[in-house]
Amino acid sequence: MKAHDGMYIGGAWRPAAGRDRIEVVNPADETVIGAVPAGTAEDVDAAVRAARAAFPGWAATAPAERAALIGALRNVLAARKSEIAETITAELGSPLGFAEMVHVGAPLAVASSYAELGASYAFEQRLGNSTVLLEPVGVVGAITPWNYPLHQVVAKVAPALAAGCTLVLKPAEDTPLTAQLFAEAVHEAGIPAGVFNLVTGTGPVAGQALAAHEGVDLVSFTGSTAVGKQIGATAGAAVKRVALELGGKSANVILPGADLAKAVATGVGHVMNNTGQSCNALTRMLVHRDQYEEAVSLAAAAVAAYPTGDPTDPATRLGPVINAKQHQRVRGYIAKGVEEGARLVAGGADAPHERGYFVAPTVFADVTPDMTIAQEEIFGPVLSILAYEDEEDALRIANGTVYGLGGAVWAADEETAVAFARRMDTGQVDINGGRFNVLAPFGGYKQSGVGRELGPHGLAEYLQTKSLQF
Ligand code: NAD
Repeated sequence: MKAHDGMYIGGAWRPAAGRDRIEVVNPADETVIGAVPAGTAEDVDAAVRAARAAFPGWAATAPAERAALIGALRNVLAARKSEIAETITAELGSPLGFAEMVHVGAPLAVASSYAELGASYAFEQRLGNSTVLLEPVGVVGAITPWNYPLHQVVAKVAPALAAGCTLVLKPAEDTPLTAQLFAEAVHEAGIPAGVFNLVTGTGPVAGQALAAHEGVDLVSFTGSTAVGKQIGATAGAAVKRVALELGGKSANVILPGADLAKAVATGVGHVMNNTGQSCNALTRMLVHRDQYEEAVSLAAAAVAAYPTGDPTDPATRLGPVINAKQHQRVRGYIAKGVEEGARLVAGGADAPHERGYFVAPTVFADVTPDMTIAQEEIFGPVLSILAYEDEEDALRIANGTVYGLGGAVWAADEETAVAFARRMDTGQVDINGGRFNVLAPFGGYKQSGVGRELGPHGLAEYLQTKSLQF
């Protein structure tokens, strides 16, 4: 795989300040496919300075012109779709078809949405005798995870650019090659020098330096709740704006009267897609006691449609998890589930292949709300099925974790499902299989985060208000 031995700062690839490198590993076969520089505080400082220098010019650029450049960026990404998908398959292990359709398809849709929103958004509002100006926050420090290597980047960069902010991106250490391709696309699209800057590196060094840098006005972080708490504390101490998109343990609530077969099949797909590495994955399936065994059999049968293997093979539907650490961690959770008394009905902790960080698609029945696998985020292809007695019980279980990111409700009719969804402590709920919408605000209640991404709500995160009284 092609890798730049430098940082994209001020519109050019520049040598890194230090000599350390991060090796990129293909999780499907454990081979090293490239290396990128491990940035230091010095690299971060250079990138923040470039972003700061570019800020006044970009903020003063007409919104329609900024939006047109986001459109141009979208077109470059679209033209390089295959190359990006292949890179995501190589460094994340995503099956190629899913990489093309979702890993590249979703960010293209997000970029398109901001190419439109950026041009039409009301950056000035009239309120009584005031005019409210919505102005860009300034320099953004964006820190992203590996699970959707392009989407997580575009979900921050596109709205920030539309708002008139400039950025420094510190992508996840496991998937820096996709981030480098993105930087190439920014360049090719003609986005002015310094508006977008890329520093690869580790979280504790480059990430921490970016979050703490006094030239950064807003830290936008997506990742684990543990790191998010740290970043929130750092930003809070400096009175910096912060947006946190964190973990989840989302509930898929199947109410009596719902189409059980469809609800179970959709729910299983939601967990298995991306090998369970979606922050909003519906990892807890809640089924009424009377339909419980039927749902368990349906789920156990459904995972058979997710064979693991080489992600470049079109027959593969379940790729590996991202790295050796996650491989151990996910299988550790499966062992813990068995130990705590859950009933394994599919999969298990044994690795299905000798090489590669594969985990068998796993389904647990007889999971109780207090079990570790029902409370903690596993981030692997593991589904827990819980039984409930009545709606109140279902609600208590659904709301009974520290998280509140996603969710789903299935019922005989929309009205019943919506009434239940209103009582869920979570940021997004899919009603009877409702589809992902790039304009809908995405983000968490409780410890799943602070702030929202996507659509107009995502754009508002990058704006601050100034009111003029007349
Ligand atoms: P992580 O928190 O370890 O890393 C995320 C990013 O933060 C990486 O770029 C990493 O280098 C950086 N980082 C790590 N330590 C840092 C520090 N001390 N200071 C600054 N930056 C630091 O998470 P991960 O393992 O990459 O991702 C998985 C987690 O992300 C899961 O918990 C998942 O639920 C969550 N996630 C949430 C969303 C969402 O939108 N809510 C989306 C994707 C992933």
